[in-house]
Parts: sequence; structure tokens; C-alpha cells
Amino acid sequence: MTTLEVEVSTVASYIAGQWVAPKSVAPQPVINPADGSAIAMLPYASAADVDHAAQVAHKAFLEWRDVPVVDRVQPLYRYKTLLEKHAQEIADILTRENGKTANDAIMEVKRAIQMVEVACGMPSLMMGDSLNDVAKGIDCHTIRQPLGVCAGITPFNFPAMVPMWMFPFAIAAGNTFLLKPSEKVPMTPTRTAELLIEAGIPEGVFQLIHGGREVVEALLHHPLIKAISFVGSSPIAKLVYQTATAQGKRVQALGGAKNHLVVMPDADLPKTVEAILSSAFGAAGERCLAGSVVVPVGDVAGPLLQLLVEKTQALHVGDGSKAGVDMGPVISAEHRKKILGYIDKGVEEGAVPLCDGRKANGADPKGSYVGPTIFDNVKPGMTIAREEIFGPVLSVIRARTLDEAIDVVNASDFGNTTTIYTQSGKAAREYQARVEVGMVGVNMAVSAPMAFFPFAGWKNSFFGDLHAHGKDAVYFYTEQKVLMTRWF
Ligand code: NAD
Repeated sequence: MTTLEVEVSTVASYIAGQWVAPKSVAPQPVINPADGSAIAMLPYASAADVDHAAQVAHKAFLEWRDVPVVDRVQPLYRYKTLLEKHAQEIADILTRENGKTANDAIMEVKRAIQMVEVACGMPSLMMGDSLNDVAKGIDCHTIRQPLGVCAGITPFNFPAMVPMWMFPFAIAAGNTFLLKPSEKVPMTPTRTAELLIEAGIPEGVFQLIHGGREVVEALLHHPLIKAISFVGSSPIAKLVYQTATAQGKRVQALGGAKNHLVVMPDADLPKTVEAILSSAFGAAGERCLAGSVVVPVGDVAGPLLQLLVEKTQALHVGDGSKAGVDMGPVISAEHRKKILGYIDKGVEEGAVPLCDGRKANGADPKGSYVGPTIFDNVKPGMTIAREEIFGPVLSVIRARTLDEAIDVVNASDFGNTTTIYTQSGKAAREYQARVEVGMVGVNMAVSAPMAFFPFAGWKNSFFGDLHAHGKDAVYFYTEQKVLMTRWF
């Protein structure tokens, strides 16, 4: 059965080689945040569906692990070609259900394709080490073996890319995979799953299970599932990590963020402002790498804020699918309300709004729009300085020295990414060394590591050991074995 045969407006799950629409709960609408319209219906799978999929995945694993790795990557080569062919179509779906601009969407799809490219290198990536005659007549080498059934649970903000931090690596390494995407954006991962199936991935090697909490809990507890990859907010990341590790599973759980952008007095101001705008307001601030606190050092604050406010006021908020729009809506009316609540709180706690996004002028009132917001005079203890808002709200905490700026950054409970803007190599080097953050940029807008480098933060931004993609993904999805051999 194909997705279309289930029903045009229904987003189906792909379980045991079939497109299915589970019937245990009433389907939920998928909303286009640009205008509030329902664009599809999503049936949620149940714990019984997860059990069925896990059994099928386990059976498939017993064969897939024995397929030579050079053959396992062949469907991924075909997948890359199909993704490239359908990149614009995927990006259009992504904009419709997520709201991000057409440019942000196509950039995301390109990043997703890079993950597949890197996973195609698995024959080299999963090689072990070897040394003959470690003692007289004894040889030693290491091999990497797949774990079994792996599962991925992903957030709403990167529905094309984040799932591909996971399954291309897991599958190429010889595992089978169950993907549970965000229920807010199920259409993009469904389209990319269709292409994976078209690329010839064998039945049971990849399955797509749509749903909510019931599906997640079933995945975390299922005895046949050996590893969980999670990306989402910190409270859920922590919960997933604690629950699944207690079940003896391997877990990588990437959480939320509160990212600081430190501006030194010698920074190139026009370039810095351009980078801050892109970091804070790109994808409506709904990136885990979004800058949400600017820390100007010394007397740079005045000229920096003047230019930043001027450029922010010129941003055009509207339907992300339309040309000339710089910032689309946030994901939902509910999330918009939450962000507006944070802006109210910022005013209440004494921060000074230089740009107030509570009225997104000119945008469709049926959509979930928040205008770009900048708060000056923010103090480290304020709610807007501490909590992840995940929207286009930028706080300014002024610091007198680099030391003071580093203290502000390190006081955060989060440690996902940060950037320093400076022309001083010494200041940049010191910053890179001293900040307690997983991904550190110098003069960057968004320091997103490429597919062949690892991706993850520190502190409450990450629970686990091995990060996403790069070599860490190879190590995460494989178990190492040491072989010692002596022949008489
Ligand atoms: P979320 O935590 O609400 O949801 C993520 C996933 O968890 C979804 O699939 C959802 O269905 C599931 N989930 C939600 N509540 C659950 C519960 N109570 N029990 C079990 N499962 C549950 O996150 P979101 O709103 O979709 O995404 C935004 C968050 O993701 C932000 O905090 C952002 O910083 C974070 N994020 C982090 C990274 C990173 O690399 N660290 C990347 C992207 C997004």
C-alpha cells in the first residue's frame, strides 16, 4: 500500500513494509503555522504498534548485520540521488508544516543530504585497528559490530536533518532503525522515508512510527531496542536518558539551549550584526544553535545595539513560502503564546525592550507570528536570561571585561553553542579554552558542525557520551570487540 492509498490527507506510518494508519486514537491535525490551516491528519501509533515494529526490526537485523557493509551502503547512495532530485519538494513540505523560510528549508535539506553522504563512507568509518605480533606469534585487532534495533525520537525544528543525524549512520553500520518524528511535523520525515524505501532499503531495516508520548515510552522500554537517539527539549532529553539507561540501553539525548554571543570591542561591527541577526532570528529563533543572549564587552554596546536595532526593524516577518520574507511564523499558536509570555515576563522583571515583537505587524493574524524582539538591561538572574525561549527573543547582558563575559556564559545551565566576535586571536583562543560549551564559534553566525564532525552540547544541553554524527555516530551505533589470535 502507498501513502496515497491510505488517504490523501492522512500521514501514514511505515511498519513491517506497509504504509499503515493506526486507529487506536483519533488522528490529530497537522497545522500550517503560517495561516493556522489544517494540512493533514496524523494517526498516532500505539505501544502495540511499537512492539510489532520492534519484532520486525529485530528479525530484519539478524539478516542485515550479515550483509557486507559495501552492499549496505548501496541503497544510501541511491537515497542521496533521490533526495537531491526531490530536494525542493521536500523543502516546500518542510516550510508548510514547520513555517521556516524557503531558504532555511532548502539549506536544511542540503544538510540532511550531507549526513547520507558521510554515512556512505561506512566501509572506511567502521574499520578497526590491527597489530600483528603484540607478543610472540600473537595478533590483535579490533572490529566494530552493530548493536541491533536502534530508535530515534526527533524534534519539530529540523524534520529533514535531525532524523538523518541518526538512521543513515545506524543502518550503514548494520543496525535496523525505528524513527519516531515530532508529531508537529510528520510530513517531511514521511516524504524522506518514501524516498528511502524507493532507494531499496530492505523491509524491516527502516520503519517510521508516528505518534506521541505512548510511542516514546514504548520505545524506551522495549527489550529488543538496544539504543536510543533523542533530540528535543532538555526536560524530555533528561527523562529519556534516565528511563532508557535504566533499561540498559545506550542513549544519546541532545537537549535545549541558551546560547551566548560575546562581542568584543574590536569586533567588525557590520559583519557581527549580520551574524547575530542570522543567529538570533533565522528560523524564527527555533534552532538549538540560535543565539539568544548577546554579551557586549565594554563600550561596544552602544554602537552595536544601534546597528542591531536598525537592522532588526528592517526584517520582514511573514509566510515563509513567500519571497522577501526574512522570518516565518513559530511552530504553533501555543508556542507563540509561550514566547509572548516570556516577553511579558522580561518587561515585568525590568528588562528594556528595544524591539518588541508582541505585535508582528503585517503578518496573517491566523498564523503564529512573533516579531523579532531585543531586550536591553537584562540581568543574569532574569527568567529571559536563564530559560530557553526557543523563539525570536534576544537578551542583552552587558559585561565590562572578557572575564565577566565568560562568567555569564559559564553560569548558564545550558552549554550547547556560543560565539565570540573579535579580531583578537588571543581573546578568541582564551574564550575557546575557557567556556563550558560543546560547540564554540569565532566570528560565526551559526556554528553547526558538518556531518563528518560531531554535534552536541555540554551540561543540560546533552545527556550521554557519544555525540551526534561524525565518528561519534559510528561509535554510538557499533560495539567494539577486541580479537586476539595465536596459531600453532
Ligand atoms: P520536545 O522535547 O517537545 O519533543 C521532542 C520529541 O520528544 C518529540 O518527538 C516529542 O513527540 C517527544 N516528546 C515530547 N514530550 C514528551 C514526553 N512527555 N514524553 C515522551 N516523549 C515526548 O522538543 P520540540 O519542541 O519538538 O523541539 C524543540 C527543542 O528541541 C528545543 O528545546 C531545542 O533546543 C531542542 N533541539 C535540540 C537540538 C540539539 O542538537 N541539542 C537540536 C534540535 C532541537
